[in-house]
Parts: sequence; C-alpha cells; structure tokens
Amino acid sequence: MARDYDLTPRPVPRVETAFRRIATDFPVPESLAVLEKLYTYEPLAMRGQPPVVWDRAEGFQVYDAWGNRWIDWSSGVLITNAGHGSRVIVDAIIRQAESHLLTNYCFPSAIRARLVETLAGLLPQPLKKVFLLTTGSETVECAIKLCRTHGLRAGGREKNVIISYEKAFHGRTLGSQQAGGIPALKEWIVNLDPGFVQIPFPDGYRTEDSTFAGFEAELARQDVDPRRVAGVILETYQGGSAAFAPPEYMQALREWCDLHGVLLVCDEVQAGFGRTGTLWGFEHYGIVPDLALFGKGISSSLPIAAVAGRPDVMDLHPAGSMTSTHTGNPVCCAAALASIDLVIRENLAENSRRLGRLLHDSLRSLADRFPQIGCIAGKGLVAGVACVAPGTKEPDGDLAWAVVERCIEKGVLMFAPVGFGGATIKICPPLVITEAALTESVGVLEEALAEIVSSRAAAAR
Ligand code: PMP
Repeated sequence: MARDYDLTPRPVPRVETAFRRIATDFPVPESLAVLEKLYTYEPLAMRGQPPVVWDRAEGFQVYDAWGNRWIDWSSGVLITNAGHGSRVIVDAIIRQAESHLLTNYCFPSAIRARLVETLAGLLPQPLKKVFLLTTGSETVECAIKLCRTHGLRAGGREKNVIISYEKAFHGRTLGSQQAGGIPALKEWIVNLDPGFVQIPFPDGYRTEDSTFAGFEAELARQDVDPRRVAGVILETYQGGSAAFAPPEYMQALREWCDLHGVLLVCDEVQAGFGRTGTLWGFEHYGIVPDLALFGKGISSSLPIAAVAGRPDVMDLHPAGSMTSTHTGNPVCCAAALASIDLVIRENLAENSRRLGRLLHDSLRSLADRFPQIGCIAGKGLVAGVACVAPGTKEPDGDLAWAVVERCIEKGVLMFAPVGFGGATIKICPPLVITEAALTESVGVLEEALAEIVSSRAAAAR
C-alpha cells in the first residue's frame, strides 16, 4: 500500500556489481531537491513510491543522476516489456517525429493502419478489430460501453450487469473504478451503479473454493439472474497478487458466457505482450475472450492502449461515436510497432517463460524457508510474494515494505507493495533481463528478507 516516505537519508551499505551500484546514502541526498519540488507542486495522491529519482533507464536497469544504478524489478509499472530505452524504439520514435506527423486525431494515417493490422494479425480469432486509445482505464471504459450496448441489443435494458472480481484493479476512472474490487478506492463514489457486481476471484489462496460452481453459487447468493448479465470482466491475472484462475474455471466461464449471451472481457493491460511467458495471458486458459484490453507493455514506452474484439461487438456503435483525441497518435503507434516487433523477433515471451521458471523455482524455495511468505503467485516474469504473519494468512504490509525498501538500498528496484493489505511484493522485470541479473536480484531479495526477519526477531527478544 502506497505510503508517505521518510525522506531523511540514512547510511546504506555500498554495493558495486556488474548490475548494481549504490554509492551513496538513501534516499540519495542530492535527490531531495527534486522530491521536495514534487511534494510541493503535485497532489499528495501522487506520492507513495520509494524515492528513487529516475534519470535514465536502459534494458533492465534504471539509473539516477548521481551515479547509482538498479536492476529493475518494476518495468515502470509493467510497461517496459521490451526493455527500457531500447535503441530500436527510440529510433522509431525519432523517425516518426522527424516525419512531422505528430498527431492526426482520427484522420487516417498509414502508421495507425499498420498497428491495428499488426495487432489483429497476432491475435487469435475472433479478436480481429482493434480500437486504439491512450490508457488502460479508457480500454476498460470502452469495454463496459460495449458490454452494455451488446446487452441492451440482446436482452433490453435489464441486461446491464457487469460482473467483475473482488480485489481487482481496472483503473481510476469512474467506470473502471466501479468494475474494480477494492472498496476503499470507491468510497468517494456516493452513487455506486448497482449494475456492477463483484464476486470472489478463484485464486485458490484467499478464495479457497476455486471451482466454477463457486461462481454460480455467488451469483445466486447476490440474486443475479444470468439473463441480466451483459459482461464478465477480469484481469487475466490479478495485478494485486499475480494470481491466475484455474484453466477449468475459465473454460467453464467461457461456456457460461456463451450460454447466456454474455461478453467475456480479459483485461490484459498487465498480462499482454509476453509478460506471463506466452504472448497473451489468456493463452494459459485455453480460451479466447470476446474483448481483450491492452496497455502498458504494448509500447514499452509512450502512452497507447488498445481494445481488440469480435468484429460484431466492435462495430456496435456508428461512425464517429467511439473516438478519442489521441487515438492512435502516430508517434505512439511507431513506439508500439517497434516494441511489438522486438517482443516477437527477440522471442521475449519465451525468455519470460524460461527465466520465469527460474524465478518461480527460487521463490518457492524461499517460501519453504520463510513462513513469512504465505503464497507465491504468477507465471513467467511476473510474481507476487504475499507476506503474512507466520502460520496465518494475515497480510503483513510492514514486512513487505521493509523488504522492498531494503532491496532498493541493495540495488534492486521495485514499486511499493501492492494487493491485499499492501503485503504483496511484486516482481516484474523487463522481459530482456538476463539470467545472471535475475539470479543476482533473487539473491538480493533473499538477503533482504533474511535481514529484516532476523532484525525483527532480535527486536522482539
Ligand atoms: N487494468 C489493469 C489490469 C491495470 O493494472 C491497470 C493499471 N495498473 C489499468 C487497467 C489501468 O491502466 P492505466 O493506468 O493506463 O489507466
């Protein structure tokens, strides 16, 4: 859970390896002027991340302006699948910028045509129409609109319910926040739309019953008639825990949606473009959704997002009625095309699968030794390490924070813990990370965890 950071610099051990160099106290004293400016001019709500002031980033490493460097386990926030600052992406951006076509609203352009064709070509049937947007939240808003429009046409005004999952995160706009399953984020919405219904996510840990019977039982418990359901939306894996649903559950859900004329939406904003060891996250389930939503890793850089879907659904709205000012911005399209090309050409999904096995094996062995780890979730190069009070499932957000902070002091960069109780340490390096850097950074996590656990034990004595 994001929190305010104590900005008093304190001495940390100096580190110098092939990948990490920390040569100063932390937070870096020279960075305080920048941090103070941000604290002065930005809203409080923008705080909450560890105070590393990014200066440049390349491949799987992030640098500050004062000679420190980190192995990055954040990928921004799951953005830089093809690596930070890739020469290929930079060149594509420069080439497009130098053509002087910096924007074209919804007027046609060749580069937008190339991007939608490329995405449709990579996606399985029936995801063959693509609408470009700018942020992940917008793709969720668009999916809600399409589900409800489809429901309206198929079953009238009553068919408007959007089923989503507890603990889900789909964005911070009004609709995406209501599809989300984190009550604290919705406290400000005084007139919640009763057409949004959340059910437990079948992660097998916090929700022990991960059978599809649980889905139907929950709808009955909440008095939701399947005929009233317009859409089911889920993160392909839950961002807060990195947990996947069982494939059998998803296959049964796919059948249930078909039976009841319900659209199935996979929010692939975090899962797409090789992150989980396959190009698309939903491949792990052996299903194809009716709509798939992309953002973050689509360009490894500039803001661009996409909704891909069944042509009949994507064409529900008439000409001119689904647009956005920066739809398919040419420079962002160039970045996305270059990044997608890298993901495919360098076979980064395979790198994610191969190194993901190493990552998950190491984390499982860590969990065997530390009862403070309640659960390891994820696939490929995304993992969630849930910190708990030993012998319970009680989340321990303080432990997660302390470990993240210690890792950063040792040269492995992560964002603040996420998920239930703010107690999940999320590991998501760029997919270009090397085996040597991954092994070294897992060693840092182990060291950090051991140090924090033993200093807590010493303090308790
Ligand atoms: N969906 C998922 C699964 C996400 O993780 C996020 C962002 N963390 C969003 C949607 C929202 O994307 P954005 O921040 O680009 O609006």
